[in-house]
This record gives sequence, C-alpha cells and structure tokens, in this order.
Amino acid sequence: MSDLLVSAAAPEDGITIAAVITTELVREIQARHDSWPTATAAIGRLATGAVLFAAGLEPGERIALRIVGDGPLGPVGADAWMLDDGALGARGYARNPHVDLPLDARGKFDVAGAVGAGSLQVTKSYADGQPYVGIVPLHSGEIAEDLATYLGKSEQIPSVVALGVLANPAGVIAAGGIIAQILPGADERSIARLEERALAMPPVTTMIAQGAGARELLLALAGDSALRSQREVAVRFACLCTRTKVEAAMIGLGPSELRAMAAEREDTEASCEYCRKRYEFSSTEIEALATRLEAG
Ligand SMILES: [Zn+2]
Repeated sequence: MSDLLVSAAAPEDGITIAAVITTELVREIQARHDSWPTATAAIGRLATGAVLFAAGLEPGERIALRIVGDGPLGPVGADAWMLDDGALGARGYARNPHVDLPLDARGKFDVAGAVGAGSLQVTKSYADGQPYVGIVPLHSGEIAEDLATYLGKSEQIPSVVALGVLANPAGVIAAGGIIAQILPGADERSIARLEERALAMPPVTTMIAQGAGARELLLALAGDSALRSQREVAVRFACLCTRTKVEAAMIGLGPSELRAMAAEREDTEASCEYCRKRYEFSSTEIEALATRLEAG
C-alpha cells in the first residue's frame, strides 16, 4: 500500500490533526543508505516528522529538519516538499547510517543514544524570500518529543507528536506518525482531552502493523472531535540533487584538497548524501573547480 498523509481540522475543539503512513518511504531510505536498525529508526522518525510538518505546505515551500548531536549517528537530516503532481516528496540521511544499538530499557530503539545531545534546527523555505530558521536544544533525542518541544517553544503551538518505525535487520515493517496542534484560543479542556487520547492510543507502529491506515490513526487521535475539511496527499521518496549541487559540496573541500584528489586519480565519484546517486568528475573537471575557487 502506498504512503498517505491525511489531515483535518476540528475547529470546535481548537485542534488540527495530521496522520501519515511512511512505511514505503522509510523502506526506500533504508535501502538507499543500507542503514542499520537504530539508524533506520532515527532517520525514519525524522523523515516522518518532516512529512507531518509539511502537511500545510504550498507549492515551492519546503521543510528541512536537521539534528546535530554528539551520538554515533552524527548529523541526521530530513526534508519534505510538494512535488509537481501535488504529492509530498521526502528524503533523509544520517552521516553514519551503520549504527545499531541494543534496545533500551523499554524494549525500544535507543534513538536517543544514537543521536546524543545537541540541537534541532527547523528551516522553512518559501518560493521567494528568506527562509525561516528555528533552533532548539534537543529535549530527549527521541525525535517526536523534540519536534513537539520545538513547536511549543519556538512557534508557541502546543502539540502532540508521535512517530514510529518498526524495523529489524531484515527490513522495515511499519512506519508512520501523527501530529495534533492546538490552535490559538483553544480551551484547556480540549488540550487535556487530546493529551488523554494520545496517551491511551497504542503505539502508531502497532496500529500500522495491524493494518491501520493514515485515516484510522487520525480518527484514533481525533476521538469524538467533529472533523472538518479532511485532505489526503500521497507521500513518496524524492530527491532534489543535481550535478551542480554536488559540485558545490565538493567546492567546500577547498582548493588544495581538490588538487590532491585530481592528482590522485582519473575519476572521482561523489554521491548525494540524501539519495546516494553517484556523480562522476574527471580529474580535469576537479582541477577546473580548484582553479575557479582560487580565482574567487
Ligand atoms: Zn540526491
């Protein structure tokens, strides 16, 4: 079944809700990066969070989430944006995808241990103008709580976020998430009821593994709230890399490093950190990059 995002508003209760299935997306990320289970859980949660944050995006806008922690994964990034056909595209990576830690005391992936302590950066880019960038210290490193903390602190939107990836060394079994945001002026009781329902729900991956779709997740969190204007959007893996962007990343190595690379071998392969697509550069092309750099 393909991935789907469903979003809705419950105006009487002052909340908006979105739920998404990302099993195929996380499978694609896992396969492209050959990520190990704990890394898959971390990248998959962050990519699922990016898709949920992207629920209300307009064409030309993009959400990028980046976690920089001191754990073995190194930086972890994910972003989501609207594709030409109206679906949401998303991608993700970790600097070190070969991380697998023992399960934590609750029998869950030790994502916090793999991420470490650090910060979460959220960037919203628009079709025109300056991007909006918010940054907060990591709250727990479990990612869902970090995203909820970001929304509460940085955007003053009290939120409930749940993200889940069920994976084993053989692959990704289920992935998805839900988000509920409290609209300004919502009363305390509806916030309390929302939190109660969120606590009472089984883990999202349990529901997805048992066959629940995005709509079922959404309805479970919505409870008896009267939903209006439900919207469905397909979600799939996509990348934005081009040869020029990979070149720009290589330029970051500096002229002496580039000259050394050109002297060392005929051809150098550089791959996109998000989709692992390989781009080949001849030693002549690399020399030219170094010359361009030195010329300023
Ligand atoms: Zn790419």
